[in-house]
Amino acid sequence: MSLFENTLKQIEKAAKIMSLEPEIKSILEVPQREIEVSLPVRMDDGSLKIFKGFRVQHNNACGPYKGGFRYHQQVDKEEVKALSAWMTIKCSVVGIPLGGAKGGVIVDPKLLSEGELEKLTRKYVQLTAANIGPAIDVPAPDVNTNPKMMDWFADEYSKIQGKDMKGVVTGKTLAAGGSKGRGEATAQGGCYVLHEYATSIGMEPSKTRVVIQGFGNAGAIAAKLLAADGYEIVGTSDSKGGIVCTHGIDPAGLLACKVEKGSVVDCGVHVSELKGMDGSTCKKVTNEELLETECDILVLAALENQVTAENADKIKAKMILELANGPVTPEADEILAKKGVVVVPDILANAGGVTVSYFEMLQNADNKYWEEDDVKAKLKDIMVKAWQEVKANADKYKCILREAAFITALARIAAKIKEKKLI
Ligand code: GLU
Repeated sequence: MSLFENTLKQIEKAAKIMSLEPEIKSILEVPQREIEVSLPVRMDDGSLKIFKGFRVQHNNACGPYKGGFRYHQQVDKEEVKALSAWMTIKCSVVGIPLGGAKGGVIVDPKLLSEGELEKLTRKYVQLTAANIGPAIDVPAPDVNTNPKMMDWFADEYSKIQGKDMKGVVTGKTLAAGGSKGRGEATAQGGCYVLHEYATSIGMEPSKTRVVIQGFGNAGAIAAKLLAADGYEIVGTSDSKGGIVCTHGIDPAGLLACKVEKGSVVDCGVHVSELKGMDGSTCKKVTNEELLETECDILVLAALENQVTAENADKIKAKMILELANGPVTPEADEILAKKGVVVVPDILANAGGVTVSYFEMLQNADNKYWEEDDVKAKLKDIMVKAWQEVKANADKYKCILREAAFITALARIAAKIKEKKLI
């Protein structure tokens, strides 16, 4: 089943529960625009390579299209379509006036030099420039894309337009007009939601063991924030594998080791010794073993389709926080619900990223910049309010949080479509 079919299933389930008008549902079942581009890049060795890229603009009823773009060897059109639809829903869950889009290029960025990545990014801008802009479609970072690339993006687009148009993209460095707090926003937003949930069930951080799949932008920052709140991080991983420890992991120590050695897999001894142990208290695990580790909270901060019909039954966590997009399949959702595992869905849990992107758009438009505390306070307000609305819908419709989040979002989108007389 393609990832987009998963998204359609999720829409279908929520639409049924809330009795959404079929016409509204049919509009959301197809993206409004799908762009496919070929990107010729002169490589360092003099050869010419043509990369394939996409930008899918799913829906703009609520505002300009918004969503990141990723560089990954497994990018495909169906995946980008799914991710674009999730952006429409995500922006609506948190009630920010934006639509949904997503982009991607089929490339393993680890195989390209910095110069080649810059050329690729600038080509991607040139080929999509006619269909993007601060009031049309505003890209941002996603898997394997970062603030430096967003700066190239803004620079290239501004050159094409012949004026400063930094608002075309978010997630830029501070020097290029980025927002304070954007780098931490995805993890920070997820932690605010987790805090609300934990408080509601009387979960005590010091007695709560957390496993985090993915120690990249979202996962490593979540580890830092959760450890600071008193949670015990007992396992984590990256694309090369993971480690599980019998004691809490020091996130800062692990990050320093990962930067030096290239992967968390080789950091077990170091992490153990940081706790004053003899180096043997952390063991190497595969990705599968990590997901099935005994813990209270499993944070999924890697890629999509990680918990599926095959392994859902083996998950031991009591709760899953989805910082990645689409890490739990619809089939797995059903198995987890039966087991009583609570899943805080991506479209709520990781919406902090796009929320601070929206703040960046406001700051760029105003040419006035906010303090970090201000960004955090505004983010917290939005995340807590979204959590309360989703929880209220889960109680009202007696459904799981994902369905409740879709219901919250679909109701707002439907109202906009009618208000603007789009049909
Ligand atoms: N790529 C992030 C997401 O999936 C952020 C998107 C944005 O900031 O526009 O939500």
